Amino acid sequence: MKENTAIPYKIYLEESEMPKAWYNVRADMKKKPAPLVNPGTGKPMTAAELEAVFCADLVKQELDNDTREFPIPDDIRNFYKMYRPSPLVRAYCLEEKLGTPAHIYYKFEGNNTSGSHKLNSAIAQAYYAKKQGLKGITTETGAGQWGTALSMASAYLDLDLIVYMVKVSYEQKPFRREVMRTYGSRVIASPSDTTNVGRKILEEFPGTGGSLGCAISEAVEYAVTHEGYRYVLGSVLNQVLLHQSVIGLETKAALDKYGIKADTIIGCAGGGSNLGGLIAPFMGQKLRGEADYDIVAVEPASCPSFTRGTYAYDFCDTGKICPLAKMYTLGSSFMPSPIHAGGLRYHGMSPILSELFDQKQMRAISVEQTEVFKAAQMFARIEGILPAPESSHAIKAAIDEALKCKETGEAKNIVFGLTGTGYFDMVAYGQFNDGKMSDFIPSDADIAKSIAQLPKV
Ligand SMILES: *Cc1c(COP(=O)(O)O)cnc(C)c1O
Repeated sequence: MKENTAIPYKIYLEESEMPKAWYNVRADMKKKPAPLVNPGTGKPMTAAELEAVFCADLVKQELDNDTREFPIPDDIRNFYKMYRPSPLVRAYCLEEKLGTPAHIYYKFEGNNTSGSHKLNSAIAQAYYAKKQGLKGITTETGAGQWGTALSMASAYLDLDLIVYMVKVSYEQKPFRREVMRTYGSRVIASPSDTTNVGRKILEEFPGTGGSLGCAISEAVEYAVTHEGYRYVLGSVLNQVLLHQSVIGLETKAALDKYGIKADTIIGCAGGGSNLGGLIAPFMGQKLRGEADYDIVAVEPASCPSFTRGTYAYDFCDTGKICPLAKMYTLGSSFMPSPIHAGGLRYHGMSPILSELFDQKQMRAISVEQTEVFKAAQMFARIEGILPAPESSHAIKAAIDEALKCKETGEAKNIVFGLTGTGYFDMVAYGQFNDGKMSDFIPSDADIAKSIAQLPKV
């Protein structure tokens, strides 16, 4: 172990130091993210249109580009206190193993039963649904982390929850499914015969394993055709990034407590919610010209929205019933290879992060999955935590950055988001352990094919 460790292994905040308001990074953006657009009219979605699908308070948050701070209601703060503040860990053991002069920190969001950061937004969305007097909410889940988080939040608030779970995951991840049912949710394998869009897809592609985009379409259709229900979404949207700012605010408070200035901030990017939350207050400083940071999004080489996508309006779902969002996208018909096991499979990216990336306020890299699992294995053995494959994209990038510092001799402060644990991903780990994992990189032609189907706006 390194001597002279004035900085503890874990920097905890007191309850009283927890954020009292979420931070809305859009308030500090001169050029705002593009608005959601109604595919029927080609005009920006109005609050009234959005309220048919989403909860009213969440629509206000979604559309508000100017309010810098949103106070966190006491009920949500009290729920947060059950599993937050989350620790910021100094990765002393990893630093030693790598022999790097860099200082590595990670914000660990896996310390709750759902095992990921998604609970931060799940409780907020369930709270506003309950406040509105709704009977219930609907959503989709792929691997199951979001569905699990929302199940916990809905159980806590005594709210009905219907989860459309991508059929392959429903069949191959029975443990997640049963966690959700234990918390009282109704879990339906998608595509299903409970919706028009589900029935249509089943007819066209009998035996399909489903997709996230299809599950979204089903969940939205159920919500808009049943009285007292609304749809909620676990990533991509502005409101989700707002709630997830609690990650970055805590990280910044912990660093400030010890006078540490981050140099590089790294996060994995699927729909962009954990990364958007982690970087929010730092990006705010950067946009206001108060500080500079190297901000890095890490995505899988098999689903490379930032690094090989197009910045354009696209559908958020395969069924094409959701509003259009302007984002870095591979096209809504893009399907990552089924051999890709590492999560982060969404075709698009948060409009906020897309705009910041377009403005070159951050950069993006892609990594291949066997490299990601190698980093995950190393991290598990050295730091003790068994990381989620998604989170391991950030681990891989942080290790590479630390190794660069070894070459240059720079003692950079590297901060990365460790979004969750991988206990439910042991099939993927098994493939890796058996040496049966391979990498898949889509060809330019694969991507061009789905890009050609972008809507004309
Ligand atoms: C869902 C998830 C992600 C990716 O989602 P983002 O919205 O991009 O944050 C990353 N890590 C874990 C553990 C997840 O569950």
